[in-house]
Amino acid sequence: MTDERSREIAWHTLAADAALETLGSETHGLSDTEAARRLARHGENRLTPAKRRGPLQRFAAQFHNVLIYVLLLAAGVTALLGHAIDTAVILAVVVINAFIGFIQEGRAEKALASILRMLSQKATVRRDGRVLSIAAESLVAGDVVLLQPGDKIPADARLFRARNLKVDEAILTGESLPVDKTTAAVEYDTALGDRRGMVFSGTLVVARQGEAVVTATGDDTEIGRISGLLREVETLVTPLLRQIARFARLLSAVILALAVALVAFGVFARDYSWTEMFLASVSLAVAAIPEGLPAIMTIALAVGVQRMAGRRAIIRRLPAVETLGALTVICSDKTGTFTRNEMTVQAIRTADGETTVSGRGYDPHGGLHRDGEDLAAAEAPSVMDLVRAGMLCNDAEIRRENDQWIAVGDPTEAALITLGMKAGLDPARQAERYPRLDVIPFESESRYMATLNHDHEGHVFVYAKGGPERILDMCSQQLRDGRPETVDRAYWQQRMEALAGRGFRVLGLAFKGVAPETVELEHATVETGMTFLGLVGMIDPPRRAAIEAVADCRAAGIRVTMITGDHPLTAVAIARQLGLENEAVLTGPEIERLDDRELRDRVGDTRVFARASPEHKLRLVQALQANGEVVAMTGDGVNDAPALRRADVGIAMGIKGTDVAKEAAELVLADDDFATIGAAVAEGRTVHDNLKKAIAFILPTNGGEALTLMAAIAAGRMLPITPVQILWVNMVTAVTLALVLAFEPAERNVMSRPPRDPDEPLLSRFLAWRIVFVSLILVTGTYGLFVWERTNGAGIEEARTVAVNTLVLFEIFYLFSARFLHASAFSPGGLTGNRYLPYAIGALLALQLAFTYLPPMQALFHTRPFPPERWLAIVAVASSVFFLVELERVLVHRHRSMHPR
Ligand code: ADP
Ligand code: MG
Repeated sequence: MTDERSREIAWHTLAADAALETLGSETHGLSDTEAARRLARHGENRLTPAKRRGPLQRFAAQFHNVLIYVLLLAAGVTALLGHAIDTAVILAVVVINAFIGFIQEGRAEKALASILRMLSQKATVRRDGRVLSIAAESLVAGDVVLLQPGDKIPADARLFRARNLKVDEAILTGESLPVDKTTAAVEYDTALGDRRGMVFSGTLVVARQGEAVVTATGDDTEIGRISGLLREVETLVTPLLRQIARFARLLSAVILALAVALVAFGVFARDYSWTEMFLASVSLAVAAIPEGLPAIMTIALAVGVQRMAGRRAIIRRLPAVETLGALTVICSDKTGTFTRNEMTVQAIRTADGETTVSGRGYDPHGGLHRDGEDLAAAEAPSVMDLVRAGMLCNDAEIRRENDQWIAVGDPTEAALITLGMKAGLDPARQAERYPRLDVIPFESESRYMATLNHDHEGHVFVYAKGGPERILDMCSQQLRDGRPETVDRAYWQQRMEALAGRGFRVLGLAFKGVAPETVELEHATVETGMTFLGLVGMIDPPRRAAIEAVADCRAAGIRVTMITGDHPLTAVAIARQLGLENEAVLTGPEIERLDDRELRDRVGDTRVFARASPEHKLRLVQALQANGEVVAMTGDGVNDAPALRRADVGIAMGIKGTDVAKEAAELVLADDDFATIGAAVAEGRTVHDNLKKAIAFILPTNGGEALTLMAAIAAGRMLPITPVQILWVNMVTAVTLALVLAFEPAERNVMSRPPRDPDEPLLSRFLAWRIVFVSLILVTGTYGLFVWERTNGAGIEEARTVAVNTLVLFEIFYLFSARFLHASAFSPGGLTGNRYLPYAIGALLALQLAFTYLPPMQALFHTRPFPPERWLAIVAVASSVFFLVELERVLVHRHRSMHPR
């Protein structure tokens, strides 16, 4: 079969086995060598990335900015007035600025794209009859893929087995309800959404299972054809950046209005010439416009995203970076997130007594004991029945890797394999002796798993395991010493609570014989007339880092709640080990009995939600949000998706999470660990701080410059700084000093202050005050020193050079204060803690020396050298900003603590 033909085949019209044959495959899959050959020939299963905007286009886009328009206008004005040098410098600044923006933005986008790639997709395939998990990129046409609920389908494929398979194809067809899939062929011109026998790349499996043979990969898939649709890299926009953009537009309007007013004032109220006033208004415009701000903001955000990735928290949607910093409640799954998800059975309870189990982890070395003695299999038939049931009703494996025993599949089930091996049963032999006919996999809603097995002698059995109450409800009998008797619910209830109270995760097991012709398992068959075999209790120790993270979150004013399908007593025991601040429990059934109003009243002080299923999570999120909380919710399954989407920050598990959950989430935890959420919150708060710091640093510079100019004009004096000099100052400080702030590490108190109010405006009253305050210091110092130079006989150009250097040194000193929003700069880390700081300052000083002493620069900027002892005066004046701001911090701080907000 040629490639060209394969693309033309209408796979949906072919019978399933015809499709397999055409693809040169079989239900047990391709061989590894054949798959490798096809991969080499046809290439990887990935979509060609959409053509991103070309470099030229991206460069051009840098000019599309109101602030830049104003600068271009200024360049036009100076050109008309015949000030060619000024025009050239302004244009140069615009171009340099665009260039920096272009490079930084490109780097930020690349970093983000690579972080998204960390979430690479897996596919489960059958090759040579073996089930493997491979990277979705290495799928080839003819591969047999196994589809499980929660999977994102990795390629287009023709189904040859489907059991109540439901697929969400909204991404392709826009149809929001899941589609039922079968293996049937359909007519040639059937619409995409009705091709029941096909599954399509990028769509999501929401229920039950299926097996299919891959018909198309990469760009040949349906999703590949509607190219571009899903490929765009997310643009760097968050609510905060949008707020900044809006602010920038407003600022430009204000500046333009001011400039016009200034011209009118100068010409009519003072005796300036039109030319002078036009130049002055150009100066004002370039002075007041924070050209560097948007770029710095973008960089700070990208730095935050990268730092989070470094701490194993992968951001999928950028706004989450900001929201993370404002969280007030984190709702987290217990199993695997707070705990290690390393299950070990330690206790078995049968009708004839308690059996303890020794050994650690999944290592099958260890044994069963009763009353301190080893338990011989022959003496304990009821224990052996239970252990065997746990082994057969099981989809997991344990495997030895580098001297470590690890679980493959569900850890709860792997623990039962380990248990069986400790009791002397071999998993492979058991599977041979009691082959499986059918299975109902575990789901948190049904809370049990069941299998149908036969024994080669005409006997067919149902085995079930699950939440003990659930299993007991199915049972009418129990076994004692091999003989059936009526089940004693009260007895088991008591035993279960005793185990759960010790922090064990408890499972009940049961079985029954069914008619020999049974080949399919239905829920109804399992749910009556079963015989109860007993209980197992397994431990799942808390993660040590999670305990610390819970304490950190509490100090940070964030409430942590635990959600689990386990028994309330198990949950409370773990909650206590984790140090949750209280252990008030609400169970799933209780949640169902509460109406929304009552639930809202209860969620506030409940820390543990037990016997809860995914549908309860959605109601919890809604109730918490109705109480004004900013909520993070974790999840891993298909049914968690609605709650993840609804939460302010949906968090999916990177390891055990399904693709569906990851798609719905804003944040993915690469290690499934609760501590990673804590780290992400700290980084989120740091990003927000750094954005604020950048604003608090840049705006006073512009404010100070603008005020200096206006003061000079109002007083009817010479401008202390020319427009091109102002541009110089803005440029050099933005690329050196302000950039440092984007890389600021977290302040020490990031996790010991309450969450920020999400409605708090970016330019809070405090920030606005700080900007005005610093602007005033800068004007006074710069203009003061300029005037002083002039009265002492310095030439205008020399005095201006002094003024420019004063302004720049002001900024260096102010940077030390701006690095801290909350703490004083007089603290450990006040001078260190940011490795870019010395380089930035060094570079800036070098630039200033060049500006002052290099002849070409002197020609360009009309600067003049001044006597070296002037530097002393400059440093003396400039350093004042540092002391004044620190003094203000002390005073404002005292004031604040007297009037808490
Ligand atoms: P969690 O949210 O803590 O992971 P689950 O909903 O997965 O809780 O499990 C709830 C209960 O269901 C467990 O306490 C256990 O009794 C039972 N259970 C868990 N996993 C399985 C499984 N694979 N097969 C059968 N029963 C299970
Ligand atoms: Mg679970």
